[in-house]
Amino acid sequence: MIVLVINCGSSSIKYQLLNMEDESLIAKGLVERIGIEGSVISHTTTGKEKVVKEVPMKDHNDGIEQVIAALTDPETGAVKSLDEIDAIGHRVVHGGEKYNTSVIVNEQVLKDLEDCVSLAPLHNPPNIAGIKACMKLMPNAPEVVAFDTAFHQTIKPVNYLYAIPYEYYQKYGIRRYGFHGLSHMFMAQEASKMLNIDVDDLKLITCHLGNGASVTAIKHGRSFDTSMGYTPLEGLVMGTRCGDIDPAVIEAIAEKEGKSLEEVLAILNKESGVLGVSGVSSDFRDLEAAMAEGNTRAKIAVELFARRVKFYIGAYIAEMNGADAIVFTGGIGENDKLMRELICKNMGNMGVKLDPAKNNQKGDAVILSTDDSKIKVLKLATNEELVIARDTKELVEKEFSR
Ligand code: ADP
Repeated sequence: MIVLVINCGSSSIKYQLLNMEDESLIAKGLVERIGIEGSVISHTTTGKEKVVKEVPMKDHNDGIEQVIAALTDPETGAVKSLDEIDAIGHRVVHGGEKYNTSVIVNEQVLKDLEDCVSLAPLHNPPNIAGIKACMKLMPNAPEVVAFDTAFHQTIKPVNYLYAIPYEYYQKYGIRRYGFHGLSHMFMAQEASKMLNIDVDDLKLITCHLGNGASVTAIKHGRSFDTSMGYTPLEGLVMGTRCGDIDPAVIEAIAEKEGKSLEEVLAILNKESGVLGVSGVSSDFRDLEAAMAEGNTRAKIAVELFARRVKFYIGAYIAEMNGADAIVFTGGIGENDKLMRELICKNMGNMGVKLDPAKNNQKGDAVILSTDDSKIKVLKLATNEELVIARDTKELVEKEFSR
């Protein structure tokens, strides 16, 4: 089965074409600047040269048209005709409380996605636009949606409720949802393979550390608690997001700076995190370079990030009464050995012993802890597209074998 995986952002479309017989990548690409001047698509079919083309694209429909043109291009494309694409899997950020797994798209699912727009006003609309464009342009391929929130639907009320009047949860669905679910689920599946232990027998703490970052406690293969909340602003300190803060800070900034609520939230989302603290960058490569040159604020930002990850790891070890492994992924989790070292420092008493030599290792799936570390430390390359493609294959096969 050949599956096209689509991930629509507000002005972008990331896509991958996968052969699910052996899970190999046939082609991938990125559409950027949709609806703004300079729209561009870059496409690579495995084994062929990368093609970059500037074409005006006013909306996601135009974007999907360009994706189809790139995939079917006689010279640089990957398929002779669209009939070769058996199914499409879409990443959708928010499935609310209704969806705890991926599903095949139908009228009801589309309606439910529209209903979730208020929960993810920036993310769900482009996701829906992508689904509708594919329905129009590739009407024969069944479509599946995979949600970032679905994996966390196993979290219990004691961990998802905020201590605010209960009626706000009942009336507006204000609760912790959690995000990066596809990545946390992938980490659990891969860690189980790496440790050769059934996922149902594992307690894991999975750390997705990229521009957005979250930590999840996974007990017996199910999400038990997670650091992101009602929105992806809660939890860890991130590249440009503040993570957990005293909510009263919002009023203080608004009042002292004469800003609206909306403006303050934009500051907390886009100008805070390690960028806000350091004044240098949201990228850890820049921060660590500045730190090496003696920039004190960059050093504090790096240490602050590590401290918050450590804080959640400690909390989740306490909540789950132990853990078998801590798993790192995402741009920082995979590549930043200093960050992994700072996070795991001084946790010997808790049973975490990072091996400095192993921490330097390259590789997509490696164990970084000492042999006698009670809690193993792993790093692996996440692959959310593969999770979507696997779900798509499974659901479509089930649906059509009936
Ligand atoms: P996104 O959340 O946008 O998918 P990624 O998971 O790709 O982000 O992570 C991007 C971040 O990873 C960069 O901003 C940077 O901070 C960090 N990063 C990437 N490579 C390295 C590296 N070699 N060393 C340290 N940090 C890195």
